[in-house]
Amino acid sequence: MPDDLLHRLRRFHDDAFPLYEQRFKELVDDGQHPTTLFIGCSDSRLVPYLLTGAGPGELFLVRNVAALVPPYDGSAGYHGTAAAIEFGVLALDVQRIIVCGHSHCGGIRALYGGVPEAAPNLAAWLELAAEARLPVAEPGPEVLRRTEQRAIVLQLERLMDYPMVRERVEAARLSLHGWHYVIEDGEVHVFDVQRGSFVPASRSEHSGTGPYRPAEPEAPIFNEIDGSYRRYTASCGPTSA
Ligand SMILES: [Zn+2]
Repeated sequence: MPDDLLHRLRRFHDDAFPLYEQRFKELVDDGQHPTTLFIGCSDSRLVPYLLTGAGPGELFLVRNVAALVPPYDGSAGYHGTAAAIEFGVLALDVQRIIVCGHSHCGGIRALYGGVPEAAPNLAAWLELAAEARLPVAEPGPEVLRRTEQRAIVLQLERLMDYPMVRERVEAARLSLHGWHYVIEDGEVHVFDVQRGSFVPASRSEHSGTGPYRPAEPEAPIFNEIDGSYRRYTASCGPTSA
């Protein structure tokens, strides 16, 4: 049986690597300085480099089922995503965190259909999105889309429980972005906190907001942001969406 993976590795080394060799050399000599932490679903159809046009050294990437953020609850276990958030913010000092879910997400669909008994870790993991579930037995496409989007906002809110994230967001040194990628349209819908909804990037004036507006070097620091954040949480909670 031909070893397709070996063929691909050789093709990368011979054909693709030379195109980026100088860039990789710089990234080794100078170290990596990515400005964006991208938390995305593991789904194979979500390709962060294609969406953002990013090259080597630009994205600090962490992916998991359904693009979920574990709670910052004082426990220090084998939380890979939490570790990546801590490293990205504290060591790399990223300026943006993107939480990117997508249409047709199997993880989100499993909130309604359950997961195999042999997957207790998956079942526990998906509890991180349980609050996004809507009270219907048979979710149609619209319910699933809304659930996917609600889950993204939940993760943005949970990010704000990380002290190093909250501190930097409040100091306008870090911005949060909620993205919902619609695979079949090739369009990212970005979360707009002012509208309390997701807006297609083609019609949006920004690349998405978290609970707070994006950091801008000359922007004054918000004082009332806690208020708007909490108002948003209330209006989009599980009982009102
Ligand atoms: Zn997914």
